[in-house]
Amino acid sequence: MMATSTHSQPITLDAVVVGAGFAGIYMLHRLRKLGLRARVLEAASGAGGTWFWNRYPGARCDIESMQYSYQFSNELQQSWEWKERYAAQPEILEYANHVIDRFELRADIQFNTRVHSAVFNESASQWLVTTETGEAFKASYCIMATGCLSTTNTPHFKGHESFKGEWYHTGQWPPAGVDFTGKRVGIIGTGSSAVQSIPLIAEQASSLTVFQRTPNFSVPAYNQSLDLEYVKKIKANYEAYRKLGRSQLLAYDFSLNPKTTAELSPEEFEATCEYHWALGGLNFYGTVADMLISPEANQIVGDFVRRKIREKVNDPAIAALLTPKSVIGCKRICADTNYYETYNRDNVNLIDVSQSPIEEITAAGIKANGIEYACEAIVLATGFDAMTGSLNRIDVRGKDNRSLKDKWSAGPRTYLGLTSAGFPNFFIISGPGSPSVLTCMITSIEQHVEFISDCITYLRDRGLTAIEATVEAEDQWVTHVNEVAAGTLFNSCSSWYLGANVPGKPHIFMPYVGFPPYVQKCDEVVASGYAGFELRAA
Ligand code: FAD
Ligand code: NAP
Repeated sequence: MMATSTHSQPITLDAVVVGAGFAGIYMLHRLRKLGLRARVLEAASGAGGTWFWNRYPGARCDIESMQYSYQFSNELQQSWEWKERYAAQPEILEYANHVIDRFELRADIQFNTRVHSAVFNESASQWLVTTETGEAFKASYCIMATGCLSTTNTPHFKGHESFKGEWYHTGQWPPAGVDFTGKRVGIIGTGSSAVQSIPLIAEQASSLTVFQRTPNFSVPAYNQSLDLEYVKKIKANYEAYRKLGRSQLLAYDFSLNPKTTAELSPEEFEATCEYHWALGGLNFYGTVADMLISPEANQIVGDFVRRKIREKVNDPAIAALLTPKSVIGCKRICADTNYYETYNRDNVNLIDVSQSPIEEITAAGIKANGIEYACEAIVLATGFDAMTGSLNRIDVRGKDNRSLKDKWSAGPRTYLGLTSAGFPNFFIISGPGSPSVLTCMITSIEQHVEFISDCITYLRDRGLTAIEATVEAEDQWVTHVNEVAAGTLFNSCSSWYLGANVPGKPHIFMPYVGFPPYVQKCDEVVASGYAGFELRAA
């Protein structure tokens, strides 16, 4: 049985890990292998993180399941059988739980436990981690596996308390599911979560009214059952396939056309667009090498998708509303099944709230543009306080009692997206300043977890008790992250990558563009004996 603690009698461990998604699960496995006493504290009643919380209709990954999975254990990747090209949420959740049981990790995961604070005691070189119910843990290392997309963004709408119907956020979906049969439903938002759920909700509901502030680009996923021969072929050479994935910018294998716009005739450009569209899903990022660098390339690729939208949607006025004017790929491209086609249904209505925001939520529905739209259920597909949201909700205090939230008030500052100066022995898995959300995240997570466990091994082997990023290394890294992003088109729209979706959040491009150069930098840091870090003995 798991030992319990109180604030006056903390449990002493070597490491506390916060969060039991794919990051926390693998981190625990590695810490166990080092022979460390570790515990994962998880707010939810189960493991899986994203895949525990996001149970909305249609939730599935947009990276192929043969790649959106762990690669640290060949036995695991050989034995697990994915059913579909893009696994659906229940299958991914089952996989996460399978990994926990396979590696016997469950005994060290404490559920229903939300961490409230983490405070560093410099003289003892120890973190005191306290939960919302007052349980406390002392540990040399505090590792945040709290997720990039784990704190929902719930905009405040005037009058929302007066609504008499049901409310749901896609990121906090009830585990028992929701039956919309015969109901008039309103959905706010048209990002990836909405794009996946709208077609399925529309099939059930008597009517579905979609409130769109900004249209998004979506490409067909062409999801299908996995072909056994294809799986066999990959499994026969899985290591090489994974290596190929890791060598690519987004940390997964996709079809990248190496040619730039200047090297393509108009006919060849059209052909590469058609080819990548037909491949389905995020292969579309590979249409042309300079798609996210050259405005001209981006315009041509964007126009191709705009044309596809017009071809799919019968009503030209609705098609025009659904057609983004922005840079394609600046916000994450959505991958859908029948998204645009759903607007041809008689029971689906699209309301444009780009010119004037939703006015209020009334007892009976949603009021926009002076009209009240009756709803018995409202779905918020309004996204997340991404990358910093979960971290900033924990009272993290480093040296001199300095708060991480205060330090990050003008935007997050990290070294390698993994650590922050002033916070010794404190690690963040897929933190701001790391490639994280621009990659196949399980691959990025594995790289971070291995960096952290190797670092802990290094310290222990040398009798060192603390590691801390220097301010100089951090400043240089933050500058570098921004410089790399400035060479792309990522800064050219109001995306959650920039924090632009949450009112009052500083606008800083948070992820690092490019997995291979990032890994190379981390490897160099390790090879040089942790350049940019200060290492201390007791
Ligand atoms: P999470 O899975 O978010 O887990 C973090 C955990 O920390 C959560 O369980 C949370 O409850 C817990 N936590 C947070 N704060 C606290 C606290 N204070 N105390 C205790 N526990 C806390 N990525 C891809 O690469 N491909 C995809 O196709 C893809 N699809 C996605 C679809 C959706 C709907 C969403 C929302 C994200 C998707 N992502 C995808 C990103 C996804 O978040 C990652 O792939 C991955 O699952 C993240 O794992 P994680 O362990 O880092 O974080
Ligand atoms: P999102 O991309 O941030 O989309 C949120 C939507 O809500 C946007 O359309 C936004 O409009 C709208 N919105 C927010 N506040 C609003 C307001 N006050 N009034 C009207 N509209 C409002 O969130 P998400 O769809 O949950 O996706 C987040 C990320 O999670 C994705 O980018 C992706 O990385 C991941 N994800 C992946 C998949 C997948 O396919 N595997 C599925 C879901 C999520 P604006 O654009 O105008 O802000």
